[in-house]
Amino acid sequence: MAQFDYDLFVIGAGSGGVRAARIAAGYGARVAIAEESRVGGTCVIRGCVPKKLLSYAAHFHEDFEDARNYGWTVGEAKFYWPTLIANKDKEIDRLNGIYKKLLSGSKVDLLETRGVLVDPHTVELAGKRVTAKHILIAVGGWPERPDIPGIEHSITSNEAFHLPALPREIVVVGGGYIAVEFAGIFNGLGAKVTQLYRGEQILRGFDDDVRSFLATEMAKKGVDIRTKSDLARIDKNGSRLSATLRDGKTLACDAVMYATGRRAKTDGMGLVESGVKLNANGTIAVDETSQTSVPNIHAVGDCTGRVNLTPVAIREGHAYADSIFGGKAWHVDHRNIASAVFSHPPVGVVGLSEADARQEGRELDIYKADFKPLKHTISGRDERTLMKLVVDRASQVVLGAHMVGMDAPEIIQAIAIAVKMGATKAQFDAAIAVHPTAAEEFVTMRTPV
Ligand code: NDP
Repeated sequence: MAQFDYDLFVIGAGSGGVRAARIAAGYGARVAIAEESRVGGTCVIRGCVPKKLLSYAAHFHEDFEDARNYGWTVGEAKFYWPTLIANKDKEIDRLNGIYKKLLSGSKVDLLETRGVLVDPHTVELAGKRVTAKHILIAVGGWPERPDIPGIEHSITSNEAFHLPALPREIVVVGGGYIAVEFAGIFNGLGAKVTQLYRGEQILRGFDDDVRSFLATEMAKKGVDIRTKSDLARIDKNGSRLSATLRDGKTLACDAVMYATGRRAKTDGMGLVESGVKLNANGTIAVDETSQTSVPNIHAVGDCTGRVNLTPVAIREGHAYADSIFGGKAWHVDHRNIASAVFSHPPVGVVGLSEADARQEGRELDIYKADFKPLKHTISGRDERTLMKLVVDRASQVVLGAHMVGMDAPEIIQAIAIAVKMGATKAQFDAAIAVHPTAAEEFVTMRTPV
């Protein structure tokens, strides 16, 4: 009889956990996975996917306006939130079903309940105990809100996807990915949006030109971005809210949405009790192979707080399964990972910001293009695009590529291949432009600024 019930027990059926479970099962491992919520995790259920669908919806607003100068007569455009939410939910249900089928098709046992560690080889599930040779923690993260009076009247991105009606006026708190994306979504759908950020400029950590350029473009579209601002309290007045800023000013609104970061869902998991070391911020401490302080317990994805992006979790889960169950040891290279912010307009970046590259003590050549995209020469919309390359002067290697503007996420994915390969500026320039596109600027910027 086998010593353990399973070869692998995965806690958390999000992007990272599901990928690891399926790949391990493919190598013949006996695998089970526990999920206390819906299979699919943050990305599919309450993150990337529904967010992007809402972002598409919000773009139509401008599309209708932009069509006029192209000769179209568009009737009165009306937006109905419940239709969007119902169709979005239908798509999420479909994806949830696909994820479940992928697991059953891979012969992974799905246990739809919370799993908690009892010891390094035992997981407790609703009173039942299961043992496994290897355990993978892939429990993701959850929105975190500061403890101010009235915080219970606020929502997070989790609830934003299920609001019964579109708020007419909303205050969004935070300056990171989620705050910037939802400010654009609500604004595009017709709400009056005030975004409060406690620091000097939104999107801390991104290239400074990207940050200021995006803030300007968002403001042009009507988002009232207030930097060095934060909320002190929230009061409920009937169906409305009154948000009081630290400077005493108040904002009347229908909703306050907090997007002030996410915390690893490691509390109450029995991790520390089982010997798994946590970092100060609650994430799980892992080495480059995703191994925790307990050799047979690994962790991948947002709960490790390395790079909190879905494709990174998937890659970490895949590397783990190949290494432990497939006899093919490898680990994820976390450098030069491209990412996008689905703001309006969107951002796409890969590699180092100018400030980070200078911090490394490098001499740089900086190339920048700031232009009105061809589409808007006729549409009349006052929207510009920014592209920037950060180049190491000595080696001429392109260290970073940054873009704010239409299609930036799609464009940066291709640019990321070149940056990951260590392409030089001359190699970028050797690629002949595709004309007329915005992307061609990445291969036609001739003079450093
Ligand atoms: P981020 O960490 O990106 O941003 C949090 C924001 O909230 C920052 O602006 C931060 O300010 C501010 N903040 C933190 N604490 C407080 C506080 N107590 N009071 C006021 N403001 C506060 O978190 P998000 O929630 O936006 O996103 C979480 C992660 O999810 C991202 O880092 C990203 O990895 C991932 N994600 C990726 C997306 C994508 O790929 N498109 C989309 C959405 C999320 P400060 O800068 O001063 O710290």
